[in-house]
Amino acid sequence: MYSNHELFFRHIAQTSETPLAVEINKANGVYLFTPEGGQYIDLISGISVSSLGHSHPEIVQAVSVQANKYMHTMVYGEMIQAPQVQLAAEICKYLPENLNRVYFVNSGSEAVEGAMKLAKRFTGRHEIVSFKNAYHGSSQGALSIMGNEYFKHSYRPLLPSVRILDFNNIKQIDEISTETACVIIEPVQGEAGVIQATPEFLSVLKDRCNKTKTLLVFDEIQSGMGRTGSLFAFEKYKIIPDILLLAKSFGGGMPLGAFIAPGEIMSTLSNKPPLGHITTFGGHPVCCAAGLAALKIIIKENLPQKALLKGELIKNKLVHKNIKEIRGEGLLLAVELGDAIMAQKVIANALKRGLLVDWFLFNPSSIRIAPPLIINEEEILKAVNILLESLEEF
Ligand code: PMP
Repeated sequence: MYSNHELFFRHIAQTSETPLAVEINKANGVYLFTPEGGQYIDLISGISVSSLGHSHPEIVQAVSVQANKYMHTMVYGEMIQAPQVQLAAEICKYLPENLNRVYFVNSGSEAVEGAMKLAKRFTGRHEIVSFKNAYHGSSQGALSIMGNEYFKHSYRPLLPSVRILDFNNIKQIDEISTETACVIIEPVQGEAGVIQATPEFLSVLKDRCNKTKTLLVFDEIQSGMGRTGSLFAFEKYKIIPDILLLAKSFGGGMPLGAFIAPGEIMSTLSNKPPLGHITTFGGHPVCCAAGLAALKIIIKENLPQKALLKGELIKNKLVHKNIKEIRGEGLLLAVELGDAIMAQKVIANALKRGLLVDWFLFNPSSIRIAPPLIINEEEILKAVNILLESLEEF
């Protein structure tokens, strides 16, 4: 009989030649446990997914209650399902008034696809603008607007009419024109290594979009749901997008994404022709029940505000001669070492010591810190100490 480790390499499609290949048989709070009795502090949350930690009892309860009532009943958009409508109403309570229609999907990439189609349909234009080092997903549409040629060149031809501008470069904003359907931007770029948009840049971008009647799409798939210190990163900029994209932690650990837009824009998908965007599983009731429980906990426990303080604690304690800077706010941080080999070594050292950290897709010289938002002070100090030891060992 094969072990799970052997089956993983025999039958699971591999995404790289060097997977972590750590077997997990239980996870709780910020801890991941292996069948051999090992444990890891999870400082990356499955890439910003498990914001409430693992197996949060209220989320487990919500999933179980909903699974006992009903799971899948019909393709998305036909039937009224309580967890779906309640989650949509709840998230809209915390959004600007214009963002009042939620289209639920299964993942971040699908939210991006939906938004690109919606913008094309609403404006009648086809050019899409995105930014250097942006990551929006792995499907062909999302890959087309990725701001990194290395990861996409092997899959060309991709979508035509994509224009990629430099992030935070105001001089290039004029390239957005009346031909541009939408601009898709992460207010805080994740995979670039946590690069925040400057307030001035976003403000000039918004003005340009207003002038050219281009839709502004904020991808908060990684930065949203409290991770950067406010429920949505865009709140800090006081700039409201036309379309907002959510996924990752939005489902409370279950697969769920959404694109959210004003009713006037969203309604274009429902007529002439109808079924402009359809999905079988999008907004699955069990995922929406988990997402609703997660959102209520985030608000009740004031986790965005706490994330801000916890991020400050990490920045204050994580001081080492090899750290060039720590970028970001809240619990989406990049520890810049300025050396990819060193970062790789430190990540491996930390893993040996029971701490799971990671690098960034477009920034291998930085270490990703994105723990569950429920991490407590004692756990933070423990994790920081392990990181300092791992830096020292290099
Ligand atoms: N946008 C951003 C900002 C992301 O970080 C990601 C995932 N890393 C995606 C989109 C794609 O999400 P998914 O992997 O769920 O398709």
